[in-house]
Amino acid sequence: MSFELLQPDSLPGALKALAQHGDEAKVLAGGTAIVLMLQQKLIAPTVLVSVGRIPDLAYIRSEPDGIHVGPLTTLRDMERSLVIQTHFPLLAQASGEVGNIRVRNQATLGGNLAEADYASDPPTALLALGTQVTATSLRGERTIPLEDFLIGFYTTDLEPDELITDVFIPASAPGSRTTYLKYRSRSSEDRPCACVAAIAAFEAETCTDLRVAVGAASEVPQRLPAVENLARGQALTDELIGEIAAGYADNIDTLEDIRGSAWYRTQMIRIHVVRALEELRNGRR
Ligand SMILES: Cc1cc2nc3c(=O)[nH]c(=O)nc-3n(C[C@H](O)[C@H](O)[C@H](O)COP(=O)(O)OP(=O)(O)OC[C@H]3O[C@@H](n4cnc5c(N)ncnc54)[C@H](O)[C@@H]3O)c2cc1C
Repeated sequence: MSFELLQPDSLPGALKALAQHGDEAKVLAGGTAIVLMLQQKLIAPTVLVSVGRIPDLAYIRSEPDGIHVGPLTTLRDMERSLVIQTHFPLLAQASGEVGNIRVRNQATLGGNLAEADYASDPPTALLALGTQVTATSLRGERTIPLEDFLIGFYTTDLEPDELITDVFIPASAPGSRTTYLKYRSRSSEDRPCACVAAIAAFEAETCTDLRVAVGAASEVPQRLPAVENLARGQALTDELIGEIAAGYADNIDTLEDIRGSAWYRTQMIRIHVVRALEELRNGRR
């Protein structure tokens, strides 16, 4: 393992280094994922661009229409943030489910999204929340909806010279109920075998909006708007919940790995979508 370590102390300095070295360079943030990839020789960059000395990339900023989270914000800071706990409990919950406290103290949001490991927690919650990712290079800035940012197995829409510089999470409808369910098949600190993030708004017993994202079961987390729409204007009866859960289980092309077979994951999706929707109907916020 041999590489040059660059530690720019400004955003333009980091962008310049990435533009200069192109495919040969990799960004280093908290290091929890990339160090393992280097050790296992899955990647062999000649240059590592550490972003840890760039000021002002770790923040949680509340705006009237949502929150901006900086890419260097740690998952532990997101889990503990009062703003996130109060207005985006789903995100606080999903962040708090990652690995263990040592990992969360080090792991950053930008690194979690850029890694694009299918067996991750925050992306599923962020997909349900309608998140947008801002990527910046010397060529300019662009904002990408998360569903277009995560494009496949460990693959994102990021160009080699781009850095994630902001993550925007729009506010949900007032009074929305949310839940995040993580199913682990091996140990209490493991990555998910399947996970479900759900958000619903109600008027009395009637569901006026439902968003459900299922993660860790396929290459990228998925929402199925046609299935979500079954709930609009309806009471969440046991029968309707079963129909929505079947819609997710039957239409997600599940993968197989050490955490479970494709068949097993399909069953776990069905069960956890049912549990999530029952929680929302029964009043959990
Ligand atoms: C023991 C262990 C258990 C874990 N358990 C879970 C779990 O249960 N759930 C879960 O979701 N995750 C889990 N993880 C993964 C962890 O959350 C991610 O590894 C972490 O969030 C990555 O962030 P980082 O700052 O360490 O990224 P790094 O390791 O520094 O980088 C990861 C990738 O992102 C790129 N990158 C980093 N920052 C940026 C940026 N701003 N712009 C562009 N590219 C960037 C890097 O080049 C690299 O490709 C676990 C990890 C470990 C080691």
